Amino acid sequence: MERFEVIVIGAGPAGYVAAIRCAQLGLKTACVDQWLDAQGRPAPGGTCLNVGCIPSKALLESSELYARLHHEFRDHGIRAGRIAMDVGAMMARKERVVRELTQGIVQLFQANGVTLVTGHGRLQPDRTVAVTAPDGGITRYGADSIILAPGSRPAEIAAAPLDGERIVDSTGALSFDEVPRRLGVIGAGIVGLELGSVWRRLGAEVILLEAQEALLTMADRQVAREALKAFGAQGLDIRLGARVMSARVKRNKVEVVYQDADGERRERVDRLIVAVGRVPNSDGLCAAGTELALDEWGYIHVDEQCRTNLPGVYAIGDVVRGPMLAHKGSREGVMVAELIAGRQAALDYDLMPGVVYTQPEIAWVGKSEQALEADGVPYRSGVFPFAANGRARAAGETTGLVKVLAHAHTDRILGVHMIGAHCSELVAQAVIAMEFGASSEDLGLMVFAHPTLSEALHEAALAVHGEAIHMARRRKRRVE
Ligand code: FAD
Ligand code: NAD
Repeated sequence: MERFEVIVIGAGPAGYVAAIRCAQLGLKTACVDQWLDAQGRPAPGGTCLNVGCIPSKALLESSELYARLHHEFRDHGIRAGRIAMDVGAMMARKERVVRELTQGIVQLFQANGVTLVTGHGRLQPDRTVAVTAPDGGITRYGADSIILAPGSRPAEIAAAPLDGERIVDSTGALSFDEVPRRLGVIGAGIVGLELGSVWRRLGAEVILLEAQEALLTMADRQVAREALKAFGAQGLDIRLGARVMSARVKRNKVEVVYQDADGERRERVDRLIVAVGRVPNSDGLCAAGTELALDEWGYIHVDEQCRTNLPGVYAIGDVVRGPMLAHKGSREGVMVAELIAGRQAALDYDLMPGVVYTQPEIAWVGKSEQALEADGVPYRSGVFPFAANGRARAAGETTGLVKVLAHAHTDRILGVHMIGAHCSELVAQAVIAMEFGASSEDLGLMVFAHPTLSEALHEAALAVHGEAIHMARRRKRRVE
């Protein structure tokens, strides 16, 4: 039986990063992954690269260009002739981007000396791993440490059974062959909003049915309110408090029945995306008798440093508690690799940025205003609108704002929330500031290049003490 110092099961952003870091630290490492591309080749990268972050961002980029060409170029004095959308070409580009990145991981594994084992890995009671290859053959491998990173898959609901054609999950929605005339989406969470935006920009009438009474409850409520306004203006028809009861395909259409405050309502759409969350891939991961502890929802139970109840076995990424985000899994992967190599390592889950890649983008790090209120933490808030930022005006990207929340006594920054163009990039500045324990005054004293969108973060930090320069009216708030 071949032995490794570390075996990682799953080559998503959690597993492949863990494997590379283990190898960098001098550990003999193998990574087992079952994902194959349409040609039957290994396609490491997991959900993120194959059917998640990357293909969705490729489609968001293509559809954004199309929408801008339609709605914004004229304002810049640019006249284009007849504009047409070639969905096939857009999908081919997306596939190319995915292929380049998954094959990039194959090369990274080779360069770092990680052995990629293709097949389904199963943890055995004696802490070995049995891998079933695509041809059915089973090979056993031994390891001193094992990292479980099997990820997650789309949740399904009995009310809307998938048929892979008219009723699809996020994976199906990344591969439509034409723009649906009317598109329904169950769930106005991150997937619903991002993929709903793609098809809306390409001309579909998009109806999002969301069971909760509020949009994006994990975001700061002021930002979420701005988002609802902005999406409404784009024609995304978001219906809150709408719980889907059933969805059936009838004569090439999908008939959706849902309930809201007014009672039962119906919609007929051409396609329906079910985007109601994801479930952990913990089933099929362990042979009988392994006794790996799971929680009641099927997540692998781990401590703060991702140790499971089994000695030498760790679990990271979507299969454990915390937000289902690629960067969260990757960071856990690095932490666990360092621990296995005998180093000190920890991860501050409070400083995990979140981003919704709609237009405007929504991004945050740290506590929201409602969370601070609920915890009874005294804070001050500084808000700066992009409409008062020179670069945003020059670019015609005036929607949105930046909000800095700082402790009322120490001035330490507790949360930064933003909605606007390029916020996915701007939020990194807030993460850095908070990681170094910056106060809003620290940010206010720094020089930000002009004209940049980053100046909105600077001004929001100044606004915490009512000192923003480019604001006619003081927007200061104190809660103690
Ligand atoms: P996964 O990426 O799911 O990878 C797990 C891998 O393990 C897969 O290859 C799987 O086949 C393999 N596997 C499972 N079980 C076994 C087994 N027993 N043996 C062998 N292999 C196995 N997150 C972001 O941070 N930013 C985004 O912009 C973003 N966009 C998204 C868009 C969409 C449409 C979706 C669906 C998700 C998005 N996410 C995004 C979430 C992100 O994709 C996940 O959080 C991330 O992929 C989780 O990483 P992971 O490594 O834990 O698992
Ligand atoms: P989600 O949990 O973000 O949203 C699901 C939504 O569906 C919820 O708002 C829920 O109230 C609603 N819902 C559930 N059942 C319903 C019903 N019967 N009728 C109407 N509404 C219903 O899940 P998601 O959007 O599927 O995303 C899955 C995961 O993938 C998320 O945890 C997210 O972190 C991750 N993801 C991240 C990004 C990103 O970072 N940009 C992008 C996509 C996905």
